[in-house]
Amino acid sequence: MLAEAPIANFKTSLRGQVIEPQDQGYEEARALYNGMIDKRPRVIARCVDVADVINAVNFGRDNNLLIAIRGGGHNGPGLGSCDDGLVIDLSEIKGVRVDPASRTVRAGPGCTQGDVDHACHAFGLAVPAGIVSTTGLAGLTLGGGTGYLTRKHGLTIDNLVEADVVLAEGRFVTASSTQNEDLFWALRGGGGNFGVVTSFLFKAHPVSMIYGGPMFWELKDAKRVMEWYRDFLPKAPLDWGVFVGIKTMPSTDPFPKEHWGKKIVALIGCYNGSSADGEKAFAPVRKELPPAIVDWVGPMPFPALQSLFDPLMPKGMQWYWKGAYVKELTDKAIDMHLEWIGKAPSELSLMHLYPIDGAVHRVGKDETPWNCRDGTWSMVIAAIDPDPAKAAHLKRWGRAYWEAVNPFTMGGGYVNFMMGDEGDARISATYGGNFERLTTVKRKYDPNNLFRVNQNIRPTKGP
Ligand SMILES: Cc1cc2nc3c(=O)[nH]c(=O)nc-3n(C[C@H](O)[C@H](O)[C@H](O)COP(=O)(O)OP(=O)(O)OC[C@H]3O[C@@H](n4cnc5c(N)ncnc54)[C@H](O)[C@@H]3O)c2cc1C
Repeated sequence: MLAEAPIANFKTSLRGQVIEPQDQGYEEARALYNGMIDKRPRVIARCVDVADVINAVNFGRDNNLLIAIRGGGHNGPGLGSCDDGLVIDLSEIKGVRVDPASRTVRAGPGCTQGDVDHACHAFGLAVPAGIVSTTGLAGLTLGGGTGYLTRKHGLTIDNLVEADVVLAEGRFVTASSTQNEDLFWALRGGGGNFGVVTSFLFKAHPVSMIYGGPMFWELKDAKRVMEWYRDFLPKAPLDWGVFVGIKTMPSTDPFPKEHWGKKIVALIGCYNGSSADGEKAFAPVRKELPPAIVDWVGPMPFPALQSLFDPLMPKGMQWYWKGAYVKELTDKAIDMHLEWIGKAPSELSLMHLYPIDGAVHRVGKDETPWNCRDGTWSMVIAAIDPDPAKAAHLKRWGRAYWEAVNPFTMGGGYVNFMMGDEGDARISATYGGNFERLTTVKRKYDPNNLFRVNQNIRPTKGP
């Protein structure tokens, strides 16, 4: 039980808002992106600056509160919140400063993907990160970060230059390749285990108008498209980030009505370059595959591509995620995927394979904790529907599909595509040879596992 006096003191000392269950706005403040997760924190501290974050960490620790750190609140299992504890909500610490001369970008931990894309676009730059504009930058970065620019420029963590961090003891440090190097190493894939990141500094790359968008084919062509994509990817220019997905044609405009509700295969890509070069890159798709039923690939500003699918994915739907890394997409695996997408529990449910080849492979396995530097794709199976009554069905399908294709995957998976029921063995398998070193860094920076609402790396056999 939290006594009245400490919370009253906390309220007066925090510059941001302190929100409790009886307060107006509590329901909105606690709501997460994934409507399947319903957590009721005891206190939500909406920090507005680093001083607030230090104050909140000290308050949580001194009052023995479970602490969750919230960036964008997009995490699948809702690890940006907790029951009965303290949520350190960073959503108001936004602000993006682009330095065009050094091509670096400093971003606050409350930024969404869209905030960063918008700020960078004015300078003809972009930070390699995710593909949906509403996703929180902080959680995405700390887990790894994959998107359209990954093949050419690496994961988001491969572009992280520096991070400011408030540690469990309330101390503020900066981590980079020259300061607190062990912490800097651990932050690049180790998630929110080591402290609260209050600022990120990234490398950015020239990206402005791109040539990209979605192409869809009927299910009868799915095997052909997936095999073609598998064989073509190693030859595809790295400026072309393209993923394959199997899903259902959304029954809504502007999708062609005659195909609403039918299963489809999609190639969704982004060529970072001129329209002429983009057309050349996409030419084999248009020449060698059957005609697509949707071909909306063309020139557009990069932020437009990044927000293309936002309307289909509003906050509050039911989501159940399973992920894995894939090295080879065998014919047998393709058959298995097609069998399972045929049983999809809802129109929005999907399977995507995001490429993690190219620049990702140029980083050594132990240079960051994210050690799948020899995979070809990061796979996600997502069961999605607006109806809470379907939750159990979504979970069943997601789990069963994942189990069926598990023999065709590499073991472990991307922490940002996991739910909360994965188990310690899967977390350690994910980090492989880097797991021991992560526990050593955890012991140094968070020996009491204060930050444990995450895909947890325990300092010992701890709580
Ligand atoms: C629609 C959708 C699209 C997505 N697309 C992509 C994609 O293209 N590429 C990709 O890589 N991932 C993608 N993801 C997955 C995404 O990376 C994770 O959901 C990620 O956790 C989101 O980060 P967040 O800040 O919104 O999460 P939150 O729920 O706020 O936090 C998630 C975790 O990060 C930790 N955390 C957050 N902020 C901080 C901080 N400042 N300091 C320390 N720890 C912190 C928290 O402790 C928590 O464990 C997508 C997710 C969704 C829902």
